[in-house]
Amino acid sequence: MQFEPVIGLEVHAQLKTKTKIFCGCSTQFGKSPNANTCPVCTGMPGMLPVLNKQAVSFAIKAALATHCKINQESRFDRKNYFYPDLPKGYQISQYAIPIAEHGYLEIETDKTGQKKIGITRIHMEEDAGKLIHDPARARSMVDLNRTGVPLIEIVSEPDIRTSKEAGVYLRKLHSILKYIDVCDGNMEQGNFRCDANISLRPRGQKEFGTRTELKNLNSFKNVEKAILYEIERQTYVLEEGKQVIQETRLWDPSKNKTTSMRGKEDAHDYRYFPDPDLVPLIVDDNWIQIVAREIPELPDEKRSRFIKEYKLVDYDAKILTSSIELADFFEKAAAPLKDKKQAANWIMTTLLGMLNAKGITITKSPVTATAFSKLLQLIEDGKINTSAAKTVFDEMVDTLKDPKIIIKEKGLEQVSDSSELEAMVTEIIDENPDEVAAYRDGKTKLFSFFMGQIMKKTRGKADPKIVTQLLKNKL
Ligand code: ADP
Ligand code: ZN
Ligand code: MG
Repeated sequence: MQFEPVIGLEVHAQLKTKTKIFCGCSTQFGKSPNANTCPVCTGMPGMLPVLNKQAVSFAIKAALATHCKINQESRFDRKNYFYPDLPKGYQISQYAIPIAEHGYLEIETDKTGQKKIGITRIHMEEDAGKLIHDPARARSMVDLNRTGVPLIEIVSEPDIRTSKEAGVYLRKLHSILKYIDVCDGNMEQGNFRCDANISLRPRGQKEFGTRTELKNLNSFKNVEKAILYEIERQTYVLEEGKQVIQETRLWDPSKNKTTSMRGKEDAHDYRYFPDPDLVPLIVDDNWIQIVAREIPELPDEKRSRFIKEYKLVDYDAKILTSSIELADFFEKAAAPLKDKKQAANWIMTTLLGMLNAKGITITKSPVTATAFSKLLQLIEDGKINTSAAKTVFDEMVDTLKDPKIIIKEKGLEQVSDSSELEAMVTEIIDENPDEVAAYRDGKTKLFSFFMGQIMKKTRGKADPKIVTQLLKNKL
């Protein structure tokens, strides 16, 4: 039987406020355990939470950027469960009325083209602490620095059909949250986390099948791989005539498989009820408008502008706007150049190639946008040719030196003196009578042979434009 996958994603994004959601403790990552705590976030008796206004503004911003409707009045609820990383015995979250609902994100894949993925809701909540298991001493410790750090949970509709779509949706959401500057988006530090819900149904059937929920997906690649695996596993179960069990499963990236973690709890297991310590959250139009004014150009708009303003092809514009840092890098590097497309090409191939090989992101690039721009200007001014520029670029990566200094040190200035080049062209023609005859006989492919000879003589430094002209004349 043919099955269709149905996928819905829940994303937890940490809001980048300086302090926690219900107390004044710092949210700074990497502090010594329990340094960022107080009676409120350690759940002492009698403590009273006070809502962080900045966290609400960030949540509103995220809601606006994902086309959600903001509820004028929303509430905080207690989600009750026991775990040692949750000192109060409940998590303050939003259940019945979240801050925002009914949004969508537009995604695009090669297979399915453009598609809207619904966003069911965005709600605000506090994070739990962290358990540190110490097998050497057979004990566990608890660090409450993360307890009370503000999160938004962004829940998608089950509109996603492939692991690829899931990956595109997640990357886009991640990129938007970074564009609007409400989340650091560091997946390793866990401030952008995703759970994936997956079920299968026979093709053509309307009702959804039983779903499993995957946790521990700490990179985009792992999300895609885990979903692929889970689709295969569920297909196998159903084809055997068995039933998928509703449960939470853990992705094990070292084994490339998911394993059962626990039965999935239902909402009523949590005994949600309105938190009596917190008044309803009122967000008026005025507040929404103030936040709306802070929303910058978003990826789709930037992409259209790049196409118009810099005459880029859609594919390049899409890649260059995929992260705000990359887009800024491009604009800064291209600003002083005549040829904007050249900047785009160099970033897409040489710069991104280098970053990929090193496994780092643009923010860690050893070559700054300014230095990169200087290099491209040297090409534009005819000071070096592109093959020399590649050498200079590699050297910039290794030594962080200024491109002009590298060119001097390595003697890479382009030879564009026509009389000097003309002499060489004459020499090459004299040295290779057979090739010249064959060329004149119509074997025009030999042109690159002559070009190669000149480049050899100049150690790659000849200005290819001038050489081409000279060769054409002489041949
Ligand atoms: P929770 O996981 O906390 O119980 P929900 O019931 O709201 O929360 O569902 C969470 C996610 O699961 C949503 O993204 C939703 O789209 C998705 N989902 C719900 N039912 C299915 C299903 N049958 N198959 C796949 N995903 C589903
Ligand atoms: Zn605190
Ligand atoms: Mg869930």
